[in-house]
Amino acid sequence: MFLFCHTASLSSFRKLQVVNHPNNLMNTSFSALNTFKTCPLKYKFQVVDRIKAKRSPEAVFGTLIHDTMKFIHTGGFTNPSLKEALNHFSTHWNPDVFDDEIDERSAFAQGINIIQLYYKKNDPAMAKIVDLESRFVIELEDGQSKEKHFVSGIIDRIDKTDEGYEIIDYKTSKKMPPQKSIDNNLQLLIYLLAFLKRYPKEESNLDNINLSLYFLRHSARLSSTKTAEELQKGREEVIEIIHQIKDSDFPAIMSPLCGWCEHQKICPMWKHKFKEETLDDEQQKEIIEKYLKAQENAKIERGKAAELQKKILEIMEQEDVGRLFGENKIVAKTHRQTFAYNENELKKILEKKDLWDTVLKLNQAQLKKVMETLPLPEKKEIEKTRELIRESWGLSIKKK
Ligand code: SF4
Repeated sequence: MFLFCHTASLSSFRKLQVVNHPNNLMNTSFSALNTFKTCPLKYKFQVVDRIKAKRSPEAVFGTLIHDTMKFIHTGGFTNPSLKEALNHFSTHWNPDVFDDEIDERSAFAQGINIIQLYYKKNDPAMAKIVDLESRFVIELEDGQSKEKHFVSGIIDRIDKTDEGYEIIDYKTSKKMPPQKSIDNNLQLLIYLLAFLKRYPKEESNLDNINLSLYFLRHSARLSSTKTAEELQKGREEVIEIIHQIKDSDFPAIMSPLCGWCEHQKICPMWKHKFKEETLDDEQQKEIIEKYLKAQENAKIERGKAAELQKKILEIMEQEDVGRLFGENKIVAKTHRQTFAYNENELKKILEKKDLWDTVLKLNQAQLKKVMETLPLPEKKEIEKTRELIRESWGLSIKKK
């Protein structure tokens, strides 16, 4: 079946710019930053190691849809008709990128639907286009180190509106995200920074600059505006991600996006799946199967033991005894209770004795929440206090 990956990832393929970061300066793109956020190892493959991989059918599809949208809006009042737009899409369609004929037909039909729906809901001649596929590079300065970084990208479309402007990014994803994700959308924030570099006077008109994601399959857009504070936060967020990249060991972070990752065959989390079988592999397979079987049996046995424990407790209750004697061992009834102290009362008592601080324990979950509210310098200071205190490796079992 032909599926679509996360919206940002589709754009990523299209807009990825090669990153080079000698010493402290970094030239990056929004899509590279986004790739790092979703999976640092994928970022390493793409950006640091520059491993070339075959573009996925979804990425090729996304590029052609974007290209068709550009075609539709090029030409001012003499925009192409629906027939011409469909013709453009069809003639640029490349069935060879698909391995499966049914997927290819399905994707083609989806593309046609998107274009037809666009014409049904929009009159391209009415759009007041200022720029299409607008390339940008913005410079960001790290407030602390004064290092300069450059972020590049391409804005799909900029429109003039009655009061201001609309910055639009097209999405071909099936699902529309909640409005909240648009309000915190880093991509749109970076686009706004790029827009303001070009139109600096508009910084005093932020309320009238709409940032929109246009979901083509739904013919619906989600929009938001930004304040000057949010813009500053966006700048800091980008700098923070750049710091993380510089300090990163590039771990693999698995997510549903792995399904569309073109590096699966070299990723340690997936490559075993693609390995050609050898004699050694037969042995490995046997060990894996034995381990899985043992885990399965242990699970069944744990269930049986829990049932038997329930019955034994019932017998003890009936017989009014605390211990039952087996052939070689004795089963004894134990009683476990868990209490929690009333924190306020406890605090009052221990504070009088100056002992409250000694019983306070770090609450990791609470700290994580507090960290989110802290400014970047404090966050970094706290991060520096982190120490690895224990490391162990285990196994987890998931369905294929
Ligand atoms: S397959 Fe998944 S975990 Fe591996 S590099 Fe790609 S996105 Fe990361």
